[in-house]
Parts: sequence; structure tokens; C-alpha cells
Amino acid sequence: MAFTLPALGYAYDALEPNIDARTMEIHHTKHHQAYITNLNNAIAGTDMEGKSLEDIMTGLDMTNMPVRNNGGGHWNHSLFWEIIHPENKGMLSGPLAAAIDTAYGSKEVFMEKFAAAAMTRFGSGWAWLCAHKDGRVEICSSPNQDNPLMPGVGCGGHPIMGLDVWEHAYYLHYQNRRADYIAAFWNVVNWNVVENNYKAAIK
Ligand code: MN
Repeated sequence: MAFTLPALGYAYDALEPNIDARTMEIHHTKHHQAYITNLNNAIAGTDMEGKSLEDIMTGLDMTNMPVRNNGGGHWNHSLFWEIIHPENKGMLSGPLAAAIDTAYGSKEVFMEKFAAAAMTRFGSGWAWLCAHKDGRVEICSSPNQDNPLMPGVGCGGHPIMGLDVWEHAYYLHYQNRRADYIAAFWNVVNWNVVENNYKAAIK
């Protein structure tokens, strides 16, 4: 079964003005779709065909650039669409918030460190909040479409929140102002999903 583009749970204009509709539509229908098409082509006829995307990521041969770039592209964007939402309810006070407090002292410090990881990722890449099996959370970043599920990438935890800092994610609306895009990201984080991702990752 070939991989297919996941539907968004909201309209392309639902995240305005934080993320503009045109960026959302191009990002989803062109960029994400291209990763999926190229991934399907790259795994056709190999033993990766039929495996789950997560199994492909964790067992990846890092020298296989088509699968690394396009498989990562598909996994990363699938997470990204889930962890943003127009009905942001603010960070929950449950186990994820406790883990963030343990690791960073406060929500504010956590947000500063995550924004710094996103700001200092040179060129294209992602900032991640990851969960380790023992419940610890850790911020890291990775270049291109790599992610910490891949062998030797980032902090090695399971990403529960990711921020795309490729220029295609923000350039139409923010041009070179990545910091403004990162600040706006906090307005659309879907903390319910991030918390659920945390609980699933530490099981
Ligand atoms: Mn992207």
C-alpha cells in the first residue's frame, strides 16, 4: 500500500494570521505531496515496501538519501500538521508540563530554548521536542528532513512536537523573519496532541 497525503483537520486559512493560507496550501499539496510521491518511488520493489513509515525511519540506512530525505519529509510533515491547530487551548497542566518543568524549570524557559533551537538551525531543518522512554523531554534540531527517529540524529528521543524551519514553511508571509514565524507558532500549537504524543512515546 503506497503512502498517501494525510488530510488536514482544518482549512488552509484556519491558522491565519499566524500561518497564511497560501503557504499552508502549497506546503501541504505541493511540498508534502512531493515527498510522498518520491518516497513511494524510492521504496517500490524494495523490502521497505509495506513497512510502516516509523519502521522505515528507525531502521533507515542513512546512506539511502532518497528514502532519508523523502521518508523524513513525509513523517515530519505528518507530525507537523497534527501538532498545529486553530483551537489552541494553551499548554496543559498534565504529565508533559511536569516533564517540561523538570527539564527546563519553567514553560517560559522551555519556549526560549525551543525557539533558540529553531532559530539557530542553519539553513533548512526542524526543531524538535522529543520524549525519552524514561519520561524525560529534550529539545534538539536536525538538518534537512532528518528526524530523531533516524539512527544517530538529534537527541535520539521520539519527536512529539516539531517545527518546520525550511523557508518554504514561512517565506511567503514572513520573508526572512524566521523569529516572527517561530513566535507565531506558539499561537497555533495543539497541546492536546503534543500531550497525547508524549503519553504514547513513553509507554
Ligand atoms: Mn516543510
